[in-house]
Amino acid sequence: MSENTTPVQAFSDIAVIGGGMVGRSLALLLVKSLPSASVSLIDATPAPATPDDEGFDRRVTAISQGSVAILARLGVWPQLERAAASIHEVQVSDRGHSGWTHYDAQEDPLGELGFVVENTVIGETLYRACTEQDALRQWQGTKVTALDIQEGGAVLHLDTAGGTREHLKAGLVVIADGAQSELARTLGIGFERHDYRQTAWVANVQHSEPHQGCAYERFTEAGPLALLPMNDFERRHRSALVWTRSSDLPLDDSDDALLEALQTQFGWRLGQFNALGKRSHYPLSLLLAREQVRRHVVLMGNSAHFLHPVAGQGFNLALRDADVLVQTLSQAAQNAQPFGSLDVLERYLSRRKTDQWLTTNLSHTFIQWFTSEHTARRATRNGALGLMNALPSLRRRFFRQMMGQGQHG
Ligand SMILES: Cc1cc2nc3c(=O)[nH]c(=O)nc-3n(C[C@H](O)[C@H](O)[C@H](O)COP(=O)(O)OP(=O)(O)OC[C@H]3O[C@@H](n4cnc5c(N)ncnc54)[C@H](O)[C@@H]3O)c2cc1C
Repeated sequence: MSENTTPVQAFSDIAVIGGGMVGRSLALLLVKSLPSASVSLIDATPAPATPDDEGFDRRVTAISQGSVAILARLGVWPQLERAAASIHEVQVSDRGHSGWTHYDAQEDPLGELGFVVENTVIGETLYRACTEQDALRQWQGTKVTALDIQEGGAVLHLDTAGGTREHLKAGLVVIADGAQSELARTLGIGFERHDYRQTAWVANVQHSEPHQGCAYERFTEAGPLALLPMNDFERRHRSALVWTRSSDLPLDDSDDALLEALQTQFGWRLGQFNALGKRSHYPLSLLLAREQVRRHVVLMGNSAHFLHPVAGQGFNLALRDADVLVQTLSQAAQNAQPFGSLDVLERYLSRRKTDQWLTTNLSHTFIQWFTSEHTARRATRNGALGLMNALPSLRRRFFRQMMGQGQHG
Protein backbone atom coordinates (compact mmCIF):
# COMPACT_ATOMS: atom_id res chain seq x y z
CA MET A 1 0.00 0.00 0.00
CA SER A 2 1.36 3.37 -0.99
CA GLU A 3 0.90 6.28 1.42
CA ASN A 4 2.29 8.95 -0.92
CA THR A 5 -0.10 11.71 -1.80
CA THR A 6 -0.69 11.85 -5.53
CA PRO A 7 -2.51 15.09 -6.42
CA VAL A 8 -6.15 14.17 -6.97
CA GLN A 9 -8.41 16.12 -9.30
CA ALA A 10 -11.71 14.30 -8.70
CA PHE A 11 -13.37 11.94 -6.24
CA SER A 12 -15.96 9.19 -6.79
CA ASP A 13 -17.50 6.84 -4.26
CA ILE A 14 -17.13 4.03 -6.81
CA ALA A 15 -15.03 3.84 -9.98
CA VAL A 16 -15.56 1.04 -12.50
CA ILE A 17 -12.57 0.40 -14.77
CA GLY A 18 -13.57 -1.21 -18.08
CA GLY A 19 -16.60 -0.50 -20.27
CA GLY A 20 -17.11 -4.03 -21.62
CA MET A 21 -20.48 -5.73 -21.19
CA VAL A 22 -19.73 -6.39 -17.52
CA GLY A 23 -18.35 -2.98 -16.53
CA ARG A 24 -21.24 -1.15 -18.19
CA SER A 25 -23.92 -3.41 -16.70
CA LEU A 26 -22.42 -2.94 -13.26
CA ALA A 27 -22.16 0.85 -13.68
CA LEU A 28 -25.86 0.99 -14.60
CA LEU A 29 -26.83 -1.22 -11.66
CA LEU A 30 -24.84 1.03 -9.33
CA VAL A 31 -26.44 4.30 -10.46
CA LYS A 32 -29.92 2.77 -10.35
CA SER A 33 -29.54 1.13 -6.93
CA LEU A 34 -27.34 3.66 -5.14
CA PRO A 35 -28.69 7.05 -6.25
CA SER A 36 -26.77 8.97 -3.61
CA ALA A 37 -23.38 7.48 -4.55
CA SER A 38 -21.13 9.09 -7.14
CA VAL A 39 -20.08 6.58 -9.80
CA SER A 40 -17.44 6.86 -12.56
CA LEU A 41 -16.89 4.56 -15.51
CA ILE A 42 -13.51 4.60 -17.23
CA ASP A 43 -13.02 2.80 -20.52
CA ALA A 44 -9.95 2.69 -22.73
CA THR A 45 -11.84 2.16 -26.00
CA PRO A 46 -13.52 4.94 -27.96
CA ALA A 47 -17.34 4.78 -28.34
CA PRO A 48 -18.41 1.32 -29.61
CA ALA A 49 -18.62 0.55 -33.30
CA THR A 50 -22.09 0.84 -34.78
CA PRO A 51 -23.59 -2.18 -36.58
CA ASP A 52 -22.98 -0.49 -39.94
CA ASP A 53 -19.25 -0.27 -39.45
CA GLU A 54 -16.98 -2.53 -41.40
CA GLY A 55 -15.64 -5.30 -39.24
CA PHE A 56 -19.05 -5.66 -37.63
CA ASP A 57 -18.67 -8.21 -34.87
CA ARG A 58 -21.48 -10.72 -35.11
CA ARG A 59 -20.35 -12.64 -32.06
CA VAL A 60 -23.28 -13.50 -29.87
CA THR A 61 -23.98 -14.10 -26.19
CA ALA A 62 -26.45 -16.59 -24.78
CA ILE A 63 -28.35 -14.83 -22.02
CA SER A 64 -30.04 -16.80 -19.26
CA GLN A 65 -33.44 -16.00 -17.75
CA GLY A 66 -31.68 -14.86 -14.56
CA SER A 67 -29.69 -12.34 -16.61
CA VAL A 68 -32.86 -11.19 -18.37
CA ALA A 69 -34.30 -10.23 -14.97
CA ILE A 70 -31.19 -8.16 -14.19
CA LEU A 71 -31.09 -6.53 -17.63
CA ALA A 72 -34.80 -5.71 -17.27
CA ARG A 73 -34.05 -3.87 -14.02
CA LEU A 74 -31.41 -1.88 -15.92
CA GLY A 75 -34.14 -0.89 -18.38
CA VAL A 76 -32.28 -2.35 -21.38
CA TRP A 77 -34.06 -5.68 -21.85
CA PRO A 78 -36.88 -4.33 -24.10
CA GLN A 79 -34.28 -3.16 -26.68
CA LEU A 80 -32.30 -6.39 -26.40
CA GLU A 81 -35.40 -8.56 -26.61
CA ARG A 82 -36.32 -7.03 -29.96
CA ALA A 83 -33.04 -8.37 -31.38
CA ALA A 84 -33.00 -11.65 -29.43
CA ALA A 85 -33.55 -15.20 -30.67
CA SER A 86 -35.19 -17.50 -28.09
CA ILE A 87 -33.70 -20.81 -27.01
CA HIS A 88 -36.56 -23.33 -26.71
CA GLU A 89 -34.41 -26.43 -26.47
CA VAL A 90 -30.83 -27.53 -25.78
CA GLN A 91 -29.43 -30.76 -27.20
CA VAL A 92 -26.18 -32.31 -25.99
CA SER A 93 -24.68 -35.16 -27.99
CA ASP A 94 -21.47 -37.09 -28.50
CA ARG A 95 -20.55 -37.78 -32.13
CA GLY A 96 -20.28 -41.44 -33.03
CA HIS A 97 -21.79 -42.59 -29.71
CA SER A 98 -25.24 -43.20 -28.42
CA GLY A 99 -25.01 -40.62 -25.61
CA TRP A 100 -27.57 -37.87 -26.14
CA THR A 101 -29.76 -35.74 -23.92
CA HIS A 102 -31.90 -32.69 -24.30
CA TYR A 103 -33.86 -30.20 -22.27
CA ASP A 104 -36.70 -28.08 -23.49
CA ALA A 105 -38.68 -25.07 -22.42
CA GLN A 106 -41.73 -27.16 -21.43
CA GLU A 107 -39.68 -28.86 -18.69
CA ASP A 108 -38.35 -25.63 -17.23
CA PRO A 109 -40.31 -23.64 -14.65
CA LEU A 110 -39.20 -20.40 -16.36
CA GLY A 111 -40.34 -21.38 -19.85
CA GLU A 112 -37.83 -20.11 -22.45
CA LEU A 113 -34.36 -21.42 -21.64
CA GLY A 114 -32.57 -18.27 -22.67
CA PHE A 115 -31.95 -15.83 -25.49
CA VAL A 116 -29.20 -15.18 -28.00
CA VAL A 117 -28.23 -11.58 -28.73
CA GLU A 118 -25.46 -10.19 -30.91
CA ASN A 119 -22.66 -8.62 -28.89
CA THR A 120 -22.74 -5.35 -30.82
CA VAL A 121 -26.42 -4.96 -29.92
CA ILE A 122 -25.66 -5.58 -26.23
CA GLY A 123 -22.62 -3.27 -26.32
CA GLU A 124 -24.42 -0.44 -28.06
CA THR A 125 -27.56 -0.71 -25.93
CA LEU A 126 -25.55 -0.63 -22.70
CA TYR A 127 -23.44 2.24 -24.03
CA ARG A 128 -26.52 4.33 -24.86
CA ALA A 129 -28.14 3.53 -21.52
CA CYS A 130 -24.97 4.68 -19.73
CA THR A 131 -24.83 7.95 -21.68
CA GLU A 132 -28.43 8.65 -20.55
CA GLN A 133 -27.44 8.49 -16.87
CA ASP A 134 -26.59 11.98 -15.63
CA ALA A 135 -25.40 10.45 -12.36
CA LEU A 136 -22.73 8.41 -14.16
CA ARG A 137 -19.48 10.19 -14.94
CA GLN A 138 -17.95 8.56 -18.02
CA TRP A 139 -14.34 8.74 -19.12
CA GLN A 140 -14.44 7.26 -22.62
CA GLY A 141 -11.18 6.61 -24.47
CA THR A 142 -9.34 6.92 -21.15
CA LYS A 143 -6.87 4.35 -19.92
CA VAL A 144 -6.10 3.68 -16.27
CA THR A 145 -2.33 3.29 -16.22
CA ALA A 146 -1.79 2.69 -12.49
CA LEU A 147 -3.59 2.32 -9.18
CA ASP A 148 -2.32 3.48 -5.79
CA ILE A 149 -4.14 2.04 -2.82
CA GLN A 150 -4.15 4.63 -0.04
CA GLU A 151 -5.96 5.38 3.20
CA GLY A 152 -9.60 6.05 2.32
CA GLY A 153 -9.47 4.77 -1.25
CA ALA A 154 -7.53 4.12 -4.40
CA VAL A 155 -6.04 6.72 -6.71
CA LEU A 156 -6.42 5.99 -10.43
CA HIS A 157 -3.87 7.41 -12.85
CA LEU A 158 -5.68 8.29 -16.06
CA ASP A 159 -4.43 8.91 -19.61
CA THR A 160 -7.45 10.71 -21.02
CA ALA A 161 -8.83 10.85 -24.55
CA GLY A 162 -7.72 14.49 -24.70
CA GLY A 163 -4.12 13.49 -24.04
CA THR A 164 -4.02 14.82 -20.47
CA ARG A 165 -2.93 12.94 -17.35
CA GLU A 166 -5.41 13.12 -14.50
CA HIS A 167 -6.00 11.47 -11.13
CA LEU A 168 -9.26 10.25 -9.70
CA LYS A 169 -9.70 8.94 -6.17
CA ALA A 170 -12.42 6.36 -5.40
CA GLY A 171 -13.56 4.70 -2.18
CA LEU A 172 -14.09 1.48 -4.14
CA VAL A 173 -12.49 0.53 -7.45
CA VAL A 174 -14.05 -2.23 -9.53
CA ILE A 175 -11.52 -3.70 -11.94
CA ALA A 176 -13.45 -5.00 -14.97
CA ASP A 177 -10.66 -4.63 -17.51
CA GLY A 178 -11.06 -8.09 -19.06
CA ALA A 179 -9.12 -11.36 -19.10
CA GLN A 180 -5.47 -11.35 -18.02
CA SER A 181 -6.18 -8.11 -16.16
CA GLU A 182 -3.11 -5.91 -16.32
CA LEU A 183 -4.34 -3.81 -13.41
CA ALA A 184 -4.81 -6.85 -11.15
CA ARG A 185 -1.24 -7.87 -11.97
CA THR A 186 0.09 -4.44 -11.07
CA LEU A 187 -1.48 -4.99 -7.63
CA GLY A 188 0.37 -8.31 -7.37
CA ILE A 189 -2.81 -10.40 -7.83
CA GLY A 190 -1.93 -13.69 -9.52
CA PHE A 191 -4.11 -16.10 -11.51
CA GLU A 192 -4.67 -19.83 -11.49
CA ARG A 193 -4.41 -20.87 -15.08
CA HIS A 194 -5.41 -23.98 -16.95
CA ASP A 195 -4.39 -23.90 -20.59
CA TYR A 196 -6.90 -25.94 -22.61
CA ARG A 197 -4.48 -26.01 -25.59
CA GLN A 198 -7.54 -25.20 -27.62
CA THR A 199 -8.65 -22.30 -29.75
CA ALA A 200 -12.27 -21.21 -30.12
CA TRP A 201 -13.23 -20.70 -33.77
CA VAL A 202 -16.18 -18.34 -33.81
CA ALA A 203 -18.35 -17.48 -36.83
CA ASN A 204 -21.95 -17.33 -37.99
CA VAL A 205 -23.11 -20.13 -40.23
CA GLN A 206 -26.02 -20.25 -42.61
CA HIS A 207 -27.95 -23.48 -42.97
CA SER A 208 -30.76 -24.67 -45.18
CA GLU A 209 -33.20 -25.79 -42.43
CA PRO A 210 -34.60 -23.62 -39.59
CA HIS A 211 -33.11 -24.22 -36.12
CA GLN A 212 -36.52 -24.09 -34.37
CA GLY A 213 -34.92 -22.35 -31.40
CA CYS A 214 -32.62 -25.26 -30.63
CA ALA A 215 -29.10 -24.76 -29.22
CA TYR A 216 -26.67 -27.61 -29.78
CA GLU A 217 -23.64 -28.74 -27.81
CA ARG A 218 -21.92 -31.50 -29.73
CA PHE A 219 -18.76 -33.27 -28.71
CA THR A 220 -16.69 -34.42 -31.65
CA GLU A 221 -13.20 -35.83 -32.09
CA ALA A 222 -12.34 -32.44 -33.64
CA GLY A 223 -13.39 -30.68 -30.38
CA PRO A 224 -16.65 -29.57 -28.75
CA LEU A 225 -18.86 -27.30 -30.80
CA ALA A 226 -21.80 -25.13 -29.84
CA LEU A 227 -24.38 -23.79 -32.27
CA LEU A 228 -26.68 -21.10 -30.91
CA PRO A 229 -29.87 -20.07 -32.72
CA MET A 230 -29.88 -16.60 -34.28
CA ASN A 231 -32.70 -14.67 -35.92
CA ASP A 232 -33.04 -15.20 -39.65
CA PHE A 233 -31.25 -12.58 -41.75
CA GLU A 234 -32.90 -11.73 -45.09
CA ARG A 235 -34.83 -15.02 -44.83
CA ARG A 236 -31.63 -17.01 -44.39
CA HIS A 237 -31.36 -19.31 -41.37
CA ARG A 238 -28.38 -18.59 -39.14
CA SER A 239 -26.70 -20.02 -36.07
CA ALA A 240 -23.65 -18.84 -34.15
CA LEU A 241 -20.86 -21.37 -34.13
CA VAL A 242 -18.27 -21.68 -31.35
CA TRP A 243 -16.05 -24.60 -32.26
CA THR A 244 -13.26 -25.43 -29.86
CA ARG A 245 -10.40 -27.03 -31.78
CA SER A 246 -6.88 -28.03 -30.95
CA SER A 247 -4.44 -25.12 -30.90
CA ASP A 248 -2.12 -27.23 -33.08
CA LEU A 249 -4.47 -26.88 -36.06
CA PRO A 250 -3.60 -24.21 -38.63
CA LEU A 251 -6.02 -21.25 -38.53
CA ASP A 252 -6.07 -20.66 -42.27
CA ASP A 253 -8.45 -23.42 -43.38
CA SER A 254 -10.63 -22.14 -46.20
CA ASP A 255 -14.30 -21.48 -45.45
CA ASP A 256 -15.26 -24.38 -47.70
CA ALA A 257 -12.98 -26.79 -45.82
CA LEU A 258 -14.39 -25.63 -42.50
CA LEU A 259 -18.01 -25.95 -43.68
CA GLU A 260 -17.30 -29.45 -44.90
CA ALA A 261 -15.66 -30.43 -41.59
CA LEU A 262 -18.61 -28.93 -39.73
CA GLN A 263 -21.10 -30.85 -41.83
CA THR A 264 -19.26 -34.11 -41.18
CA GLN A 265 -18.95 -33.54 -37.44
CA PHE A 266 -22.39 -32.06 -36.82
CA GLY A 267 -24.50 -33.98 -39.32
CA TRP A 268 -27.67 -32.83 -41.06
CA ARG A 269 -29.99 -31.70 -38.23
CA LEU A 270 -29.82 -28.15 -39.67
CA GLY A 271 -29.72 -29.28 -43.28
CA GLN A 272 -26.79 -28.12 -45.36
CA PHE A 273 -24.29 -25.57 -44.02
CA ASN A 274 -23.88 -23.25 -46.97
CA ALA A 275 -22.06 -20.09 -45.86
CA LEU A 276 -19.77 -18.89 -43.14
CA GLY A 277 -19.50 -15.32 -41.79
CA LYS A 278 -16.38 -13.53 -40.63
CA ARG A 279 -14.27 -15.84 -38.50
CA SER A 280 -12.44 -15.03 -35.24
CA HIS A 281 -10.11 -17.20 -33.17
CA TYR A 282 -9.59 -17.10 -29.38
CA PRO A 283 -6.94 -19.18 -27.58
CA LEU A 284 -8.59 -20.68 -24.50
CA SER A 285 -7.53 -20.90 -20.88
CA LEU A 286 -9.40 -21.00 -17.61
CA LEU A 287 -8.12 -18.04 -15.59
CA LEU A 288 -9.17 -17.54 -11.98
CA ALA A 289 -7.91 -14.60 -9.94
CA ARG A 290 -6.30 -15.78 -6.69
CA GLU A 291 -7.85 -12.79 -4.90
CA GLN A 292 -11.08 -11.14 -6.00
CA VAL A 293 -11.32 -8.58 -3.21
CA ARG A 294 -8.92 -6.37 -1.31
CA ARG A 295 -9.54 -3.26 0.72
CA HIS A 296 -10.93 -0.68 -1.79
CA VAL A 297 -10.73 -3.15 -4.71
CA VAL A 298 -12.94 -5.81 -6.29
CA LEU A 299 -12.37 -7.76 -9.52
CA MET A 300 -15.36 -8.39 -11.76
CA GLY A 301 -16.12 -10.18 -15.05
CA ASN A 302 -13.32 -11.72 -17.10
CA SER A 303 -10.69 -10.19 -14.83
CA ALA A 304 -12.04 -12.31 -11.93
CA HIS A 305 -12.86 -15.48 -13.87
CA PHE A 306 -12.36 -16.23 -17.53
CA LEU A 307 -14.18 -19.44 -18.45
CA HIS A 308 -14.26 -21.76 -21.44
CA PRO A 309 -16.84 -20.25 -23.83
CA VAL A 310 -18.51 -23.42 -25.05
CA ALA A 311 -20.88 -23.45 -22.07
CA GLY A 312 -21.72 -19.74 -22.56
CA GLN A 313 -21.44 -18.74 -18.92
CA GLY A 314 -18.98 -15.85 -18.50
CA PHE A 315 -21.35 -12.92 -18.89
CA ASN A 316 -24.23 -14.59 -17.04
CA LEU A 317 -22.02 -15.41 -14.06
CA ALA A 318 -20.58 -11.89 -14.01
CA LEU A 319 -24.06 -10.33 -14.05
CA ARG A 320 -25.00 -12.42 -11.01
CA ASP A 321 -21.80 -11.26 -9.30
CA ALA A 322 -22.57 -7.64 -10.17
CA ASP A 323 -26.11 -7.93 -8.82
CA VAL A 324 -24.97 -9.34 -5.49
CA LEU A 325 -22.16 -6.78 -5.21
CA VAL A 326 -24.69 -3.97 -5.61
CA GLN A 327 -27.04 -5.54 -3.05
CA THR A 328 -24.15 -5.85 -0.59
CA LEU A 329 -23.10 -2.24 -1.16
CA SER A 330 -26.70 -1.07 -0.65
CA GLN A 331 -26.75 -2.83 2.73
CA ALA A 332 -23.37 -1.27 3.56
CA ALA A 333 -24.79 2.17 2.74
CA GLN A 334 -27.74 1.56 5.09
CA ASN A 335 -25.32 0.58 7.87
CA ALA A 336 -23.05 3.58 7.15
CA GLN A 337 -20.16 1.28 6.25
CA PRO A 338 -17.66 2.44 3.62
CA PHE A 339 -18.01 0.68 0.24
CA GLY A 340 -14.31 -0.14 0.17
CA SER A 341 -14.21 -1.80 3.60
CA LEU A 342 -12.73 -5.28 3.47
CA ASP A 343 -15.60 -6.58 5.66
CA VAL A 344 -18.15 -5.45 3.09
CA LEU A 345 -16.23 -6.87 0.13
CA GLU A 346 -15.61 -10.19 1.85
CA ARG A 347 -19.33 -10.43 2.63
CA TYR A 348 -20.01 -9.99 -1.08
CA LEU A 349 -17.50 -12.67 -2.02
CA SER A 350 -18.79 -15.18 0.53
CA ARG A 351 -22.27 -14.82 -1.03
CA ARG A 352 -20.84 -15.56 -4.47
CA LYS A 353 -18.49 -18.45 -3.66
CA THR A 354 -20.89 -21.36 -4.23
CA ASP A 355 -22.29 -20.17 -7.55
CA GLN A 356 -18.84 -19.20 -8.87
CA TRP A 357 -17.44 -22.56 -7.80
CA LEU A 358 -20.32 -24.56 -9.28
CA THR A 359 -20.39 -22.66 -12.57
CA THR A 360 -16.63 -22.75 -13.04
CA ASN A 361 -16.26 -26.40 -12.11
CA LEU A 362 -19.27 -27.59 -14.02
CA SER A 363 -18.11 -26.01 -17.27
CA HIS A 364 -14.47 -27.03 -16.68
CA THR A 365 -15.32 -30.66 -15.84
CA PHE A 366 -17.81 -30.79 -18.70
CA ILE A 367 -15.08 -29.74 -21.15
CA GLN A 368 -12.48 -32.11 -19.66
CA TRP A 369 -14.79 -35.09 -19.91
CA PHE A 370 -16.18 -34.32 -23.28
CA THR A 371 -12.87 -33.54 -24.98
CA SER A 372 -11.31 -36.79 -23.79
CA GLU A 373 -11.15 -39.72 -26.21
CA HIS A 374 -10.04 -41.99 -23.36
CA THR A 375 -12.21 -45.13 -23.60
CA ALA A 376 -13.26 -45.19 -19.93
CA ARG A 377 -14.17 -41.50 -19.92
CA ARG A 378 -16.07 -41.87 -23.17
CA ALA A 379 -18.08 -44.75 -21.71
CA THR A 380 -18.77 -42.79 -18.50
CA ARG A 381 -19.93 -39.67 -20.33
CA ASN A 382 -22.24 -41.65 -22.56
CA GLY A 383 -23.58 -43.36 -19.43
CA ALA A 384 -24.06 -39.95 -17.78
CA LEU A 385 -26.00 -38.61 -20.77
CA GLY A 386 -28.16 -41.72 -20.73
CA LEU A 387 -28.74 -41.35 -16.98
CA MET A 388 -29.83 -37.77 -17.44
CA ASN A 389 -32.38 -38.86 -19.99
CA ALA A 390 -33.73 -41.38 -17.49
CA LEU A 391 -33.76 -38.98 -14.51
CA PRO A 392 -35.59 -35.74 -15.31
CA SER A 393 -34.73 -34.14 -11.94
CA LEU A 394 -30.99 -34.69 -12.53
CA ARG A 395 -31.35 -33.37 -16.06
CA ARG A 396 -33.21 -30.30 -14.84
CA ARG A 397 -30.53 -29.52 -12.22
CA PHE A 398 -27.71 -29.99 -14.70
CA PHE A 399 -29.24 -27.85 -17.42
CA ARG A 400 -30.42 -25.14 -15.05
CA GLN A 401 -26.87 -24.68 -13.74
CA MET A 402 -25.50 -24.85 -17.30
CA MET A 403 -28.02 -22.21 -18.39
CA GLY A 404 -26.91 -19.90 -15.60
CA GLN A 405 -30.01 -20.38 -13.49
CA GLY A 406 -28.16 -21.77 -10.51
CA GLN A 407 -27.69 -20.22 -7.10
CA HIS A 408 -27.77 -16.48 -7.06
CA GLY A 409 -26.11 -15.76 -3.70
C1 LIG B 1 -16.17 -16.97 -28.08
C2 LIG B 1 -16.86 -16.56 -26.81
C3 LIG B 1 -18.21 -16.81 -26.64
C4 LIG B 1 -18.84 -16.44 -25.44
N1 LIG B 1 -20.18 -16.72 -25.29
C5 LIG B 1 -20.78 -16.40 -24.13
C6 LIG B 1 -22.15 -16.69 -23.92
O1 LIG B 1 -22.81 -17.21 -24.82
N2 LIG B 1 -22.73 -16.37 -22.72
C7 LIG B 1 -22.00 -15.80 -21.72
O2 LIG B 1 -22.57 -15.54 -20.64
N3 LIG B 1 -20.70 -15.49 -21.89
C8 LIG B 1 -20.08 -15.78 -23.06
N4 LIG B 1 -18.77 -15.44 -23.25
C9 LIG B 1 -18.08 -14.71 -22.19
C10 LIG B 1 -18.34 -13.20 -22.28
O3 LIG B 1 -18.05 -12.75 -23.58
C11 LIG B 1 -17.45 -12.49 -21.29
O4 LIG B 1 -17.71 -13.00 -20.02
C12 LIG B 1 -17.72 -11.00 -21.25
O5 LIG B 1 -17.57 -10.44 -22.51
C13 LIG B 1 -16.74 -10.37 -20.29
O6 LIG B 1 -16.74 -9.03 -20.44
P1 LIG B 1 -15.83 -8.07 -19.56
O7 LIG B 1 -16.58 -6.79 -19.55
O8 LIG B 1 -15.44 -8.68 -18.26
O9 LIG B 1 -14.44 -7.95 -20.36
P2 LIG B 1 -14.11 -7.28 -21.75
O10 LIG B 1 -15.20 -7.45 -22.72
O11 LIG B 1 -12.76 -7.76 -22.13
O12 LIG B 1 -14.04 -5.70 -21.44
C14 LIG B 1 -12.95 -5.11 -20.81
C15 LIG B 1 -13.00 -3.61 -21.07
O13 LIG B 1 -12.01 -2.99 -20.25
C16 LIG B 1 -11.35 -1.99 -21.00
N5 LIG B 1 -10.02 -1.82 -20.41
C17 LIG B 1 -9.02 -2.73 -20.36
N6 LIG B 1 -7.95 -2.21 -19.71
C18 LIG B 1 -8.31 -0.95 -19.34
C19 LIG B 1 -7.64 0.08 -18.64
N7 LIG B 1 -6.40 -0.08 -18.15
N8 LIG B 1 -8.27 1.27 -18.45
C20 LIG B 1 -9.55 1.45 -18.90
N9 LIG B 1 -10.23 0.48 -19.58
C21 LIG B 1 -9.62 -0.69 -19.79
C22 LIG B 1 -11.32 -2.55 -22.42
O14 LIG B 1 -11.16 -1.50 -23.36
C23 LIG B 1 -12.71 -3.21 -22.51
O15 LIG B 1 -13.67 -2.28 -22.96
C24 LIG B 1 -18.11 -15.81 -24.42
C25 LIG B 1 -16.74 -15.54 -24.58
C26 LIG B 1 -16.12 -15.91 -25.78
C27 LIG B 1 -14.62 -15.63 -25.93
